[in-house]
Amino acid sequence: MGGVLKCRGWQQEGLYRLLVNVISSELAEDPDEFVVYGGGKAVRNKDSLLLILRILQQMGNSETLLIQSGKPVAVVETHPYAPRVLMSNSMLVPHWSTWSIFGELEKAGLTMYGQSTAASWGYIGSQGILQSTFETLWEVADKKFGGTLRQRWVLTSGLGGMGCAQPLAVEMNEGVALVVEADPTKAMRRLNTRHVHVVTDNLDDALSIVDEALKDGDPRTIALVGNAADVYWEIASRGLCPDVVTDQTPAHDPLRSYLPSGVTVRESRRLRIEQPDVYVKMVQESICKHVQAMLEFQKRGALVFEYGNHIRAQAADSGLAEAWSIPSFVSLFARERLVKGSSPLRWIALSGNPEDIYTFDDWLMSVFGNDERLVTWIKWARERIHFQGLPARSVWLTREQRDAVVDELCERVLHEYVSAPMAITRDHFAGATMASPHRETEGMPDGSDAIADWPMLNALLLASMGATLVSVQQGGGVGIGVCQAFCVNSILKRLLSFL
Ligand code: NAD
Repeated sequence: MGGVLKCRGWQQEGLYRLLVNVISSELAEDPDEFVVYGGGKAVRNKDSLLLILRILQQMGNSETLLIQSGKPVAVVETHPYAPRVLMSNSMLVPHWSTWSIFGELEKAGLTMYGQSTAASWGYIGSQGILQSTFETLWEVADKKFGGTLRQRWVLTSGLGGMGCAQPLAVEMNEGVALVVEADPTKAMRRLNTRHVHVVTDNLDDALSIVDEALKDGDPRTIALVGNAADVYWEIASRGLCPDVVTDQTPAHDPLRSYLPSGVTVRESRRLRIEQPDVYVKMVQESICKHVQAMLEFQKRGALVFEYGNHIRAQAADSGLAEAWSIPSFVSLFARERLVKGSSPLRWIALSGNPEDIYTFDDWLMSVFGNDERLVTWIKWARERIHFQGLPARSVWLTREQRDAVVDELCERVLHEYVSAPMAITRDHFAGATMASPHRETEGMPDGSDAIADWPMLNALLLASMGATLVSVQQGGGVGIGVCQAFCVNSILKRLLSFL
């Protein structure tokens, strides 16, 4: 790959490489269908993919490609500092913004689900979620447990694409994680990828490993095969109380993803198709049971929070209004940092050369050596994270740190200390990038939770400042109708020696 261009400039070339990257089998959940993660697609279909790639190859440095929900619709003459790609994904007029209407339009081939960084080609694999989960668990340790989760027990569930970051993040913060996963295959996969230390389907065994690890102060992660609704209740009925309780089951999608109590993965496939209404009712009952157990732990003094999967709303819609007494991780832990301007920044080595990332890690640790959290993360990431697709790094940084990082990246590209330009990307988890009243903007002090103007203004501003790709979308990780967001990718472009 390196420095050989397929396109007429690095802006187009960078986007070309990002698109090919997110649909590669190393990254994409379902490369044949262009599904990158969480049901989100990078392009509408094969025809759209081929056309986008061809346009990117042929486009000049004063043109802009418009993409409507994964389908290229126009190339417009603009100017060299305009974005090379502008996109809008999954947008619906608010009154019609429901899953069922979206489903009909998707079936008719008129739109696609873009998630957050799937449609905008900025996805970097599990590192992104691992880094954010590490930050959340660090905040939990810092704010509630004197700076470490050592000898603390975290009960959670879901070892899917995002949820699998939980045990690793608990381990990084020295705690003990018991993660309930309904699908035995997924649990075994996480053992093989070293996301957990042990897998068992026996609660007694799992609890005795937890006990022993807590006694010894060992970081330990256990996957327990079972349904979270049942297991949480069983643990509660034994009079036990973990220190921290949360979950990352896919409660945001009651038909296609969450598994109700008493149903195997195999049975769920049949029931979802043959009896969708019955299935959704079973899911609603399970979710209520699941959340009732979380409320019970909360009453007993555990730190309980929702981890952005919409489970409280689902329980409340099924009649369990008390679900809203569980706070979200954003209001408990993330808001304060976002308000101060801290948020994740990602950079991707378009060269494909891991050394471009490692040498930058070294620079980061030398310049910000007194930032313990940052140094812990980088050291851990270097040791445990295998790059998926193009080498990349995601780090939460303050505003001042971000400025310094971008300046240094530019210097490196300009003086050819790296093998090719780097892409920098921002996702939904930064100030004013997403309006989502049950997640990013829940409990805004001025009551503006449902105001969606900020991400739109942010996107317009970045487009006018010349980011390489700007994408507006709705849905993200919480679903159609409940969030509005934007994403941006910029190929470092002050770097004329590469253009
Ligand atoms: P996924 O579909 O890849 O995986 C979900 C996992 O949960 C699967 O392994 C499934 O077998 C398991 N599961 C389903 N029902 C279960 C049950 N009742 N008990 C135990 N296990 C069960 O989903 P994902 O990408 O890992 O995301 C999980 C949820 O977390 C989603 O709702 C997503 O939107 C949310 N999420 C939130 C944030 C955030 O706010 N920080 C970030 C990422 C994901």
